[in-house]
Amino acid sequence: MTTDPQHITYFQELLREHELSITTFRIQLLKTFESAGLPLSAQQLMEKFQQKIDKVTLYRNVEAFERSGLICRMYFNGQEALYEERFSGHLYHHLICNHCGKIEQIDVCAVPPPQTESGFQVDHHHVEYYGLCFSCQQLMSQT
Ligand SMILES: [Zn+2]
Ligand SMILES: [Zn+2]
Ligand SMILES: [Zn+2]
Repeated sequence: MTTDPQHITYFQELLREHELSITTFRIQLLKTFESAGLPLSAQQLMEKFQQKIDKVTLYRNVEAFERSGLICRMYFNGQEALYEERFSGHLYHHLICNHCGKIEQIDVCAVPPPQTESGFQVDHHHVEYYGLCFSCQQLMSQT
């Protein structure tokens, strides 16, 4: 896994801002989340590291990232927990195929912040759209 020095500084800064100590593994983990383009399960994260790290270390760091707000945990259709980065400033919404379970990520937000009277302060939201992905539509129109 190669990362240019500027990128490393960015990740170091990010960890510092979130009051997390800087480790090589954490930087690699942030990079993995940044380049994933999709929410990832713990299993998929393990695979990205080609089993070079132990599960406990991975889980501990994922937990720390979640607690600090660097990543979010989500569940779609009763699947296992998936994790997605929140640090890049992108607002991801998800399109989930009812047929094959494929998840597409879209960086478009048309949801206005809610007006609350309770004083609740919203920091982000999750939106899921369910339907049929393009290839499942093709598949169904063939039969
Ligand atoms: Zn969240
Ligand atoms: Zn599908
Ligand atoms: Zn949104």
